[in-house]
Amino acid sequence: MKRFGGVSAAGGIAIAIVALWLAPARATDQDRLDQIDFPVRTVTVVVPFARGGPTDTVARLIAVEMAKTLGQPIEIENILGAGGTLAATRVAHATPDGHTLIVGHMGTHGSAAALSPKLGYRPDKDFEPVALLAEMPVLLLARRDFPPKDMTEFKTFVKSHTDNINVAHAGFGSVSYASCLLLDRLLGVDPTAVPFSGTGPAMQALIDGQVDYMCDQIVNAVPALREDKIKAYVIASAERDSAVPQVPTAAEAGVPGFRIAAWTGLFAPRGTPEPIVAKLNAAVSRALDQSEVRTRLTDLGGIVPGPEQRSPVVLAQLVHDEITRWGSVAKGSTP
Ligand code: ASP
Repeated sequence: MKRFGGVSAAGGIAIAIVALWLAPARATDQDRLDQIDFPVRTVTVVVPFARGGPTDTVARLIAVEMAKTLGQPIEIENILGAGGTLAATRVAHATPDGHTLIVGHMGTHGSAAALSPKLGYRPDKDFEPVALLAEMPVLLLARRDFPPKDMTEFKTFVKSHTDNINVAHAGFGSVSYASCLLLDRLLGVDPTAVPFSGTGPAMQALIDGQVDYMCDQIVNAVPALREDKIKAYVIASAERDSAVPQVPTAAEAGVPGFRIAAWTGLFAPRGTPEPIVAKLNAAVSRALDQSEVRTRLTDLGGIVPGPEQRSPVVLAQLVHDEITRWGSVAKGSTP
């Protein structure tokens, strides 16, 4: 029996019949979305960090494709400050009509709930999750001439020089802050933290040797790594990433607790009508299926969510789980 893609020919015919039967339903879904009179003007997508960082990169990449589907321009607005939490506070209180959105992540919509003092919003209550955009694994990066050759030397060196070593991050609501906080706690080190308005500018400081190390999302690190301008010690994931196959996992390097799932998602203010959320979700999904988006994201080490990971429910669960995880980190444990 001829097999293709792991399915027998008979199975393939059955799948085709089911697909034909479902087709009208899918067409109805699309018809339903097309009948929603949204958007009626430019959609603003807020990015809580400076231009050129990983959050900005993903937002602009996907916004271009979403605009084609939605038939209205999408304007990216970088609102800086308070480690991404100022932007999130603004969008949490924006008019819930779908025309103001935010690209948040496991920092602004997860760890910030536990690590950021006096947060002006509740990540799990003040937003309508729209869709997961990407997962961007976190790398431990250092300036090119930082003395430690590997993770073992890194731990010893940072411990013995902790008074004059600095670590860059993008503020309390950032992935970079939460990730290196966890790492520093696991290693028992306490370097001087240097905040930036995003890991775009922080990366430039690392390349210029103005800061010693940083925990950043892979899409921001790959170009500088490929040009040998910085170095990477480990990736905080269960597996190596094909964009940087030479970088060992933290577990391989003896720090198994250094695991970060740096997801990035699109959020609307709480109260945005479900049909509008559904239309935005469909536009994200279509963008993620475009080869330009997939190629660019994966080339930079990002992970494109599969269709089964793109529902608002999946993103809502990620927010919930992240808040729980960082609540225990804030209390001193290292789950
Ligand atoms: N996503 C980065 C962080 O959270 C900041 C940025 O995108 O610039 O550290």
